[in-house]
Amino acid sequence: MSTTLVTNIGSLVTNDPARAESTGTGPLGLVQDAAVVIDGDRIAWTGRAADAPSADSVYDARGRAAIPGFVDSHSHLVFAGDRTQEFNARMSGRAYSAGGIRTTVAATRAATDEALEANVTRYLREALRQGTTTFETKSGYGLTTHDEARALRIAARHTDEVTYLGAHIVSPDYADDPAAYVELVTGEMLDACAPHARWIDVFCEKGAFDGDQARAILTAGKAKGLHPRIHANQLSHGPGVQLAAELDAASADHCTHLTDADVDALANSRTVATLLPGAEFSTRAAWPDARRLLDAGATVALSTDCNPGSSFTSSMPFCVALAVRDMGMTPDEAVWSATAGGAAALRRTDIGRVTPGARADLVLLDAPSHVHLAYRPGVPLVSEVWRRGVRTTGHAG
Ligand SMILES: [Zn+2]
Repeated sequence: MSTTLVTNIGSLVTNDPARAESTGTGPLGLVQDAAVVIDGDRIAWTGRAADAPSADSVYDARGRAAIPGFVDSHSHLVFAGDRTQEFNARMSGRAYSAGGIRTTVAATRAATDEALEANVTRYLREALRQGTTTFETKSGYGLTTHDEARALRIAARHTDEVTYLGAHIVSPDYADDPAAYVELVTGEMLDACAPHARWIDVFCEKGAFDGDQARAILTAGKAKGLHPRIHANQLSHGPGVQLAAELDAASADHCTHLTDADVDALANSRTVATLLPGAEFSTRAAWPDARRLLDAGATVALSTDCNPGSSFTSSMPFCVALAVRDMGMTPDEAVWSATAGGAAALRRTDIGRVTPGARADLVLLDAPSHVHLAYRPGVPLVSEVWRRGVRTTGHAG
């Protein structure tokens, strides 16, 4: 295993809790004039460049800023088909409803394994170029036992963070008998899907699954060794967030419509509030209030929700910029939420931070500070990306 010294980093975000505490630099654990030693696929050392140990090779960052690779803890990448016209229509005045998912379900069922895999690979490359080194992705566009298990098998070839979302919407095949669909999702489909997934998710929303159905689905998943996460309180107030806290879900995702009791539940549980501003952007909806959650003491993650219907972006920098501009987050908070926050939403401590022993996922920005991610929205600032110690080149390279 060879070592690489990345040195002359102008400003390094470590997200190291110990460093944050000892230096008083806030949760980002910033180090100025920094260096990082990568050993194989792990971080071996971080600190001031002047104190760095020697290594087999040296990479000169030339004063650029570095951050941990983004952790995108919520995406829907196993799909086929195109919904450009739906977006176009919506932006021309038609309301969004969960029913649009059916279009993607039909196209996904009709697609070959090769076509689905090619799509996943394409969006992963796109995300990597923008600094995403870990992503979670879900099934949910098959809605049959065969198609859900197929989606998870394909996803599992690309990430360990695979989520069974048979309960995305009630399958159109069961439109007249949703209870029978819940039985399928908690029975035969779960049996086929559980071996390929780490997580189970449900879209708890009017028009999808109510609180009792969501509880039954997540409880069945837990019994099969899957851990819950929930699409909660996206389009309206509802029971999703409370259910997430009750079931110790790793994450309640969206959290756009929250009561004070919902905010309290998030602040007083291990459940992370994952905010997905691409969805509000792409549906012209009201923004989630990150400030309210942070002030209450909740842990907040930012993620893309990349999917062809309601948020067709793979860009974590874009989400950071939206969160700062429209959701009351400071640039420091948004960068933390897009890295360490995503890791917390996946209950991981080996990613989302640049600390000895963590995975060697590092992003160099073509900028002197991480603040530029919000200060220069839409600009391809990701310059170099190390994923598991392997360097690739971002947009700016
Ligand atoms: Zn989603």
